[in-house]
Formats: sequence, C-alpha cells, structure tokens
Amino acid sequence: MKPSDVRITKDIGIHSNDALIIIDVQNDFMPHGALPVAEGDLIVPGINQLVVKFYGVASSVILTQDWHTPNHHSFASAHKGKKPYAPYSAEGIGPILWPDHCVRGTAGADFHPELDTKLARLIIRKGTNPKIDSYSAFIENDKKTETGLSGYLRTIGIKRIFLCGLALDYCVFYSAMDGKKLGFDPVLLIDLTRPVGTPEGIVSRVLEEMTAADIAFTNANQIRR
Ligand SMILES: [Zn+2]
Repeated sequence: MKPSDVRITKDIGIHSNDALIIIDVQNDFMPHGALPVAEGDLIVPGINQLVVKFYGVASSVILTQDWHTPNHHSFASAHKGKKPYAPYSAEGIGPILWPDHCVRGTAGADFHPELDTKLARLIIRKGTNPKIDSYSAFIENDKKTETGLSGYLRTIGIKRIFLCGLALDYCVFYSAMDGKKLGFDPVLLIDLTRPVGTPEGIVSRVLEEMTAADIAFTNANQIRR
C-alpha cells in the first residue's frame, strides 16, 4: 500500500471542536538534517496555509517537537558498536536506533524556519526522558507514560484531530493510532506528511494498520472553513 492508495475523505468542514496537530516539523527531519526525511521541506508551505484555514474557526493549532537529551537512548551513538538504523528493541526504544537528532536547544531541534508557529496554542515537547522515546504525541514508547496532550485536548473540548508533519511512518502514525485509542477522531493529511521509509515495507504496513483502525485520510484541498 502506498500513500496514493488511501481512500480520501472529501469536502471536510472545520468545526470549533477540531484541533490541528503539526508533528515534528524540525530542522533535523529536513532533507539535509541529521535524520533526513525526503521532501520533508516540501510540506511546509501547505501546512502554513492549513494553519491559516484553521485559525479563527478552530483556534486549536498544536505543534509537537522531538526534544531529546544529549546521549538519548534512542540514538545509536548511545550504544557501543551500533550504527544508526540498526534494529534494536528495549522497553521504550526501537524497533531501530536513530542518528543523533533533535537534541534540546540545538538548531536541529528548532522548527523549520519557514513554519508559521505564531498561531500555535500549545507546543508539546516529547522524547524528553533519556531512557524512553516518544514517537506518539500522546503516549511515550513505554506505552504507559502520557505526554498530557489528551488531557489538554479533552479539557478544551476537542473531538476531532487533524494530523500532519513528520514522519508518516513513526511519529504521525503513532500519534494517529493513540489519538484513536484515546477516543479522538483522527484525520490524517496524507499530502502534508512524508515517511522515513526504514525499515523496508514500513510505509505499507502503517498505512494498512491505520486503514484497519478506521483512521480517515484526506488532502489539504478537501478542507474548507
Ligand atoms: Zn526522536
């Protein structure tokens, strides 16, 4: 299954109980970054346009930021003899190890300079525990520690969440799946995300899993205010 194979939900109106969650649009995930995502930069203008479309109707624009400690356990460099993208599995880490990326306070952890961040209501920083990664914006990779996002969304009355950003096969995927499990209605903007694509076959697998979990897909041009 490819991103172009998903069923597109058409003509979606935005309501006041919708939130737009923009996942990890950070320098290290750009094509020349430490953990490159091909075409990661190409989605930035479309995300900015979507923010403007959302704002004023649903004013809940939320950003997430991968925000690791130096020597984070998800980095290959923290494990003797391991290379980036090598398979690795431990509680809260894996299924592969990563190049050093998004170390808190570094330029690589900054948002893409052209991402319009001024209308965001909340920035969630995740992966801050040195021993546990957090692909999902909701629940860390130990599958139990919450980031607080679901409580925040519930408190402000959010029912439906629109997701875009990086990367499709990790942080966007896990955020959509956890969002669904936690009782929100996720809609994934398939044209405003891109995958890492490692290991081979992962994109197809996550698209199939999200389809089976009844997660909706759309394109930005189907969203109207
Ligand atoms: Zn990370």
